[in-house]
Amino acid sequence: MPRADPATTFAARQAAGPLRQLDLRQLVERLPAIVYVADVGIEGRWRYVSPGVEAILGFTAAEMLQDVGLWARQVHPDDRARVFAREDDLIAPGAPEEYRMLHRDGSMVWVRDEAALVSDSDGQARWHGVISDISDRKRSEAKLEGRAEQQAAVARLGKRALEGAQVAELMDGALGEARRTLGVEAGAVFEHAVEAGPAIVRAQLGEIGAPPDATIAASPSSRWLPATLSGEPAGSLCCQIESASGRWGMLWLAGAPDRLFEAADVDFVQALANILADAIRQRATEQDIRHQALHDPLTGLPNRILFLDRLAHALSQARAKVAVALLDIDNFKLINDSFGHSAGDELLMQVAPRLRAALRPHDTIARLGGDEFVVLLQDVEDEHAAAAVARRIVAAFDTPFELHAGEHFAKVSLGVAISHGSDGTPTSLISDADAAMYQAKERGRARFEIFDGAMRARVVERLSVENDLRRAAQRGELELLYQPIVSLEERRLVSVEALVRWRHPTRGMLDPKAFIPVAEESGLIDPIGRWVLDSACEQAARWQAEHRDRPPLRISVNLSVQQFRQRDLETSITAALTRSGIAPSTLCIEITESVLLQESDGVRDTMTHLASRGVAFVLDDFGTGYSSLGYLTRLPISGLKIDRSFVEALGRKTRSTEITTAIVRMAQALSIEVIAEGVENELQVGELHDLGCRLGQGFHFHKPLPADGISALLGGETRPAAAG
Ligand code: C2E
Ligand code: MG
Ligand code: MG
Repeated sequence: MPRADPATTFAARQAAGPLRQLDLRQLVERLPAIVYVADVGIEGRWRYVSPGVEAILGFTAAEMLQDVGLWARQVHPDDRARVFAREDDLIAPGAPEEYRMLHRDGSMVWVRDEAALVSDSDGQARWHGVISDISDRKRSEAKLEGRAEQQAAVARLGKRALEGAQVAELMDGALGEARRTLGVEAGAVFEHAVEAGPAIVRAQLGEIGAPPDATIAASPSSRWLPATLSGEPAGSLCCQIESASGRWGMLWLAGAPDRLFEAADVDFVQALANILADAIRQRATEQDIRHQALHDPLTGLPNRILFLDRLAHALSQARAKVAVALLDIDNFKLINDSFGHSAGDELLMQVAPRLRAALRPHDTIARLGGDEFVVLLQDVEDEHAAAAVARRIVAAFDTPFELHAGEHFAKVSLGVAISHGSDGTPTSLISDADAAMYQAKERGRARFEIFDGAMRARVVERLSVENDLRRAAQRGELELLYQPIVSLEERRLVSVEALVRWRHPTRGMLDPKAFIPVAEESGLIDPIGRWVLDSACEQAARWQAEHRDRPPLRISVNLSVQQFRQRDLETSITAALTRSGIAPSTLCIEITESVLLQESDGVRDTMTHLASRGVAFVLDDFGTGYSSLGYLTRLPISGLKIDRSFVEALGRKTRSTEITTAIVRMAQALSIEVIAEGVENELQVGELHDLGCRLGQGFHFHKPLPADGISALLGGETRPAAAG
């Protein structure tokens, strides 16, 4: 119906003459509302209804008037009781009431019904009312309420996340909030597969069917909402769960059949997804930190802390015996030194899988640090069983390692300790295994030893040696013997090597091998070494003063590798020289190749400084270590002592003889002096002489002698220097 402009109409009417009585009926019929007059009662007849009813409920005015029960039937079933109460009790007449009605097409209409009971001209009380459509207002109210609910839901989930709820719990929580707030029937939290493949369902609500395909996972947008891309509401939605470290997965929801999502709903779901993303990232960080605290970063194996924990646990509940196998890669330092640290790391990384393959799945392998690994063997029946495992571990190192630098054979020394009842603590078991490993190394490496009573006794003895040794120097129990080094040709005394002895109060005279290793391990080597150095230099000064008529007697002093770790080694040596007053050129320091193996700037500088002042350096026991010729040219080394084992083999056609020959030739080429150690017979002297070796030391000439023995030798010596 074409609508006239009210202003024009009014103006026209005014112009037409005096204002006519307004035609109220016409006015009422143009109202966008239902104006009605109806009898009281649910089945009350509608006496009048304005045509506005058709726009609001879809029924014509005539239909409403004819069909007596029509209005009552169209009241929304859920609101009937409340609305009809008005008819039954005539309560609150005149109070506006809001309720839902059904449109002819089945859709829902919110109405506001303002009615009053009015006594008509026939004396009957009837409803005179106006029903207006408030659906729009109700909808925006609901929307506001919905947003508030969504905000509350986000806050609730966020609070649970802050309180440290498990990630799985939060996922269920997010789906629960979505169901409550959006009315969805189905939904899921999917984790993207690491490799291409279907996503993994981590939490689920209702029936979800197959996980969304890869196109969703790969969607470039953080949201995936096909229908809303064109601005239309959609029936399902999907938000990415992602953080700085990447896209973890997604939160997917499907609406009830009549539920369509809008852009604001996407914001809500994305907020839920973001809470999940934060929680996942944070829990992952926590796990990382925990993992890092308990694992070795290089090999990924458990570290000492975790190992001790597992060992303690195993000991506390073991019904059977528990064994600890400690292993150390033989000469690992050499790999680092020769091929670089990355080669060392490469090797360490390959050790773990080898051990794994030699063990049962539930045995724990840990890296204690450096090249030291430890294995926890649970439920070991007896020593035989432990030995079998140890043998397998040693055998696992039979094949070479493939390093970038090339193939490399690395062997291990293994110490095994087995728990006995409840007496073992984690640390005591490890230290027993350590003692056994030490023994394995001493007995030639690439083998295993099982800790036993005898070893315990040795450990105890070692401790008591250490205790006694602490006081040995102060109590004057240390002594020096001196072994002559002679020229092979004239048998002239060229120098003497100072060799330490310990006159133990109860155990008698002890050789260095009985206490030097203990001194080295306990750090006592520093004061002992200083005492040796001072005493030897003083003694040399006395001999030099007493025998001015011969070239000054040189003195050799042995220095352990540990002494090179001292910062003030150079100072100690300088002090010994100054105090005694001997010329630096009459002091010779004997070092083993182990010193050079840890060649560092410090070692090099110390040696270079001292050498520049005339102090000589000689490589002891040459041929038993790694004899890299590199250091002979790099470092100021003036001589080498061929180890006794090579000298012993002289005269027999052996490989050792060939090596000795090669050593002497090479030393000659480098102008390095060669001294033969452990010369025991004339045959060896002849061979050495033929090889061109000029100096020798050994029982054949002299055993190590006390100082006055050397004095006697010096006194009785013919005077070759004066003669020559
Ligand atoms: P070394 O420096 O190689 O000393 C030579 C060892 O061989 C000495 O043993 C000596 O007695 C022995 N020897 C000499 N000639 C013969 C021989 O013809 N046949 C046999 N079978 N042996 C012979 P010693 O005195 O027991 O010293 C052993 C090791 O202890 C030394 O080997 C040295 O490495 C270390 N040492 C000795 N004194 C000291 C010291 O004051 N400080 C340090 N750090 N180490 C020392
Ligand atoms: Mg020596
Ligand atoms: Mg030697």
